[in-house]
Amino acid sequence: MAAKEIAVGSSSFSGGDPCPICLGPILQESYLDTCFHKFCFRCIKQWIKVVSSKVSKPLSSVKCPLCFLADVFDVPRFWKLKKLLQRNRWLESWLRRELQALMQEEDVDIVLHHLVGVMDSFCKRTEQRHKQETRSAEAFQEQFKSVIAEAGRPFLMARTDRFVDELELFLASGLNMEAYDAVYKQRLDWNNSREVGVSNEAIEEENRRTRATPNLFLFEEDSV
Ligand SMILES: [Zn+2]
Ligand SMILES: [Zn+2]
Repeated sequence: MAAKEIAVGSSSFSGGDPCPICLGPILQESYLDTCFHKFCFRCIKQWIKVVSSKVSKPLSSVKCPLCFLADVFDVPRFWKLKKLLQRNRWLESWLRRELQALMQEEDVDIVLHHLVGVMDSFCKRTEQRHKQETRSAEAFQEQFKSVIAEAGRPFLMARTDRFVDELELFLASGLNMEAYDAVYKQRLDWNNSREVGVSNEAIEEENRRTRATPNLFLFEEDSV
């Protein structure tokens, strides 16, 4: 949703939910006029400033940070539109880094190529049955995740399920690594907010461990 202007509520202090940007009590409760997610006036103003300066967009097309994040990690839409079949060209670099971290090993080529091969043939099979496709988006998603989990489990063991969830998030975001990292961090910071997309226990756990100061990140929306 895009906003035309910032509306400022009547109360200068709201006793309700904290501001999703600064995580403090909301000062001068404000919202963009399209979605009514609430922020401090100063925080949302800063967000808009960053957005408009980076993407030179008119205020009318600026999304509130929560709506923006929910869009980026719209996993159900990703599966519904079968976006998996559009190859993400950052996939291999992302996989390499993830595998290196999870396996604590520098050379992950074999596992990486194995996983990419499994994904490619899954996509190929899906393309071939294109016309006779009867699977629901949920079944499609479930099959993909179990195929990847099976391929990765011998190497990733207990970390497999978490890996598959993160792979799904990365693919659903359609972002490059840099942008993904920025948004992912922000998602952790804003995890308290019920509005933000998917729940994931591993991420919640990480969030508890590494609560960081939220920052405003932005990138070209066209890359989304
Ligand atoms: Zn704030
Ligand atoms: Zn919003």
